Amino acid sequence: MAANTHFPVAIVGGGPTGLTLANLLGVYGVETLLIERNAATVHAPRAVSIDDESLRTMQAVGLAEEVMSQTVTGYGSHYYSAKGRCFAKVQPTEEPFGFPRRNAFRQPILERQLREALDRFEHVTEAYRHELTSFEQASDGVLLNVRDPWGGAIQFSCDYLIACDGASSPARKALGVAMSGSTFRERWLILDLENSPSPSPHTKVYSDPKRPCIALPGPENTRRYEFMLHDYESDEEMLAPNMVAHLMQTHEAAPQSRLVRKTVYTFHARLAEQWSKDRVFLAGDAAHLTPPFAGQGMNSGLRDANNLGWKLAAVTQGRLGPKLLASYEPERRDHAWAMIEFALNMGKVIAPKSVLKAWAIENAFRVLSLFPKARDYIAQMKFKPPPRFAKGFLVPDGADERTTLVGRLFPQPRIGGVMLDDLLGKGFSLVVRSARPDVVMAQVTGEPWSKLKARAVVMPLDAGGPRLAAYTDHVFLLRPDRYVAACIKVDELEQGAAKIAALVAGTY
Ligand SMILES: Cc1cc2nc3c(=O)[nH]c(=O)nc-3n(C[C@H](O)[C@H](O)[C@H](O)COP(=O)(O)OP(=O)(O)OC[C@H]3O[C@@H](n4cnc5c(N)ncnc54)[C@H](O)[C@@H]3O)c2cc1C
Repeated sequence: MAANTHFPVAIVGGGPTGLTLANLLGVYGVETLLIERNAATVHAPRAVSIDDESLRTMQAVGLAEEVMSQTVTGYGSHYYSAKGRCFAKVQPTEEPFGFPRRNAFRQPILERQLREALDRFEHVTEAYRHELTSFEQASDGVLLNVRDPWGGAIQFSCDYLIACDGASSPARKALGVAMSGSTFRERWLILDLENSPSPSPHTKVYSDPKRPCIALPGPENTRRYEFMLHDYESDEEMLAPNMVAHLMQTHEAAPQSRLVRKTVYTFHARLAEQWSKDRVFLAGDAAHLTPPFAGQGMNSGLRDANNLGWKLAAVTQGRLGPKLLASYEPERRDHAWAMIEFALNMGKVIAPKSVLKAWAIENAFRVLSLFPKARDYIAQMKFKPPPRFAKGFLVPDGADERTTLVGRLFPQPRIGGVMLDDLLGKGFSLVVRSARPDVVMAQVTGEPWSKLKARAVVMPLDAGGPRLAAYTDHVFLLRPDRYVAACIKVDELEQGAAKIAALVAGTY
């Protein structure tokens, strides 16, 4: 444990959200305390699907290759009717952000990788087997009361406390913040298997109203089954060995499969009514709960960490003012809710409520598949809410909300074989797209660029795909989380610089 008792940032909760945030703060050089009551990572069956945005965040903390070494990348999902007919295939092949869009992983392994990676940072202190029992806020900081592994009481203080303490978040309750949203509540039986080879690497969705089921092959012959339970079925009867064996057998589990975990989870669809109070911020499951149909619960938490990490660094290191942190909730809230709604809509396809509805859904997909554009829309997963926000730390460019690149995650092409982010470094950056890049580069010196320590990089005009094709003679200001803060025409650089200077001044 640390000799230090004051930290600019303290994180409570060493799940994927807290561990990712701790790694980001480690990369940014922020002294951080991570408090986790358990001794190590979770072993309960949890997330099995990691998306391209999260892999990009792993790249930001230098772990993309390691995480990918334990991940089956680029798997799709195939939807089957009760009669066994495949009626839809989601199998994205495009990689706009530099990574495959759907990937199979194991949460305990990712947590171990993230935890071990913290050893790289002397300025990140890990307090495992320590529990945050209460906290008190003052105008200049937060006092933390912590129980150590031997039952003793210790105190720390921090400038900001980030509560990544999960669905039942004691910190959220202590703040008196309620969860609200949809009345959705469903119980699902979760089975994890080992030694369970699957004939296909893709997820198989049994859209059977009698027994909706998702079978997800994972790395190293693992397999996850998720079965919806009906209200009239009790947990006990569904967890009984005979029932579990029957479900595995009727859903094509390889005969040699070894059951390693079984549990019943109740899923909700809710958001915290407020994501921060003064110096305490909620992130991950503490701020939002989503059903598992879109595989987005953890991915949403990693987006929170990515959004908060650079802001906490900029504020605690004095580069930007503390009001910057007020942009966290407006930037993240709508997107987190869009992901929850997305999951609820996928749930309607995965678990139709009647035979008639199942028939209607199956036929709707069949008709859509006759049209190449619609087929591509489904196969490439273009229905997934794009990573973007409409308000926050950005300068609107006046373009339509649907077309503007401001507030969106910037594409990640390779430039000369190198991934864009690896060229950009860890701070703000200026991506210059111009036929006369030298002239533009000479103009992006001085304020406000030097205040932001923005690294200028020239992007060839043929890089970045169709989305960027229209942006010749433009400069993009990217934030450290790779979202576009501003998109400025080259011949309006002076006015653009003034707007950015005003944005920076607004954080104080
Ligand atoms: C069956 C299932 C399948 C899922 N599938 C997916 C999927 O495919 N993809 C996906 O993205 N998501 C999925 N999820 C969701 C995902 O697992 C969660 O969203 C994710 O674990 C949330 O991470 P977190 O770090 O916010 O919280 P948690 O993982 O819950 O971590 C919170 C941590 O805080 C600690 N803590 C709490 N209070 C204190 C305290 N007072 N002091 C110290 N420590 C404390 C806890 O011990 C815990 O370690 C699934 C979930 C389930 C249950």
